[in-house]
Amino acid sequence: MDMTSARIARRPPPGLFKLATNAWTAPFWAAARRRELVAACCADCERFRMPPTPFCPHCQSQSVDWRVLVGTGSVYSYTVVERAILPGMEPHLPYVPAVIELDGAGGVRMISNLVEVDIERIRVGMPVRVVWDEQPDASAVIARFAPA
Ligand code: ZN
Repeated sequence: MDMTSARIARRPPPGLFKLATNAWTAPFWAAARRRELVAACCADCERFRMPPTPFCPHCQSQSVDWRVLVGTGSVYSYTVVERAILPGMEPHLPYVPAVIELDGAGGVRMISNLVEVDIERIRVGMPVRVVWDEQPDASAVIARFAPA
């Protein structure tokens, strides 16, 4: 492959992300500020649930343990955004929204982005690791994923 043609997945435009937390998601964002990737786990039946929900879908318990994960996973699905749908997006293209299956979390997945990767090398099942991006206005720290 001609390396001069490599297209690296970029960060999506910061304005696309506006953090809105609630009692069920706030622990995730607090952990992200510490650069810890966590997932909600039922304190009663010990099954993970992501995104976090008020009730466990398996046993209806409201008890939650936030478990610190190893920070690796694999690509379950992805898409490549090539076109600007909002003004000012061009400098951020292409970017790659992805669904990541998290290691050590019972098969739960989260939506994120792939970064620091040649788009032609992305494959379903590709091992990835978390990388942390602080928002330009410091409003949040976001988990994104790069090749492991
Ligand atoms: Zn449960």
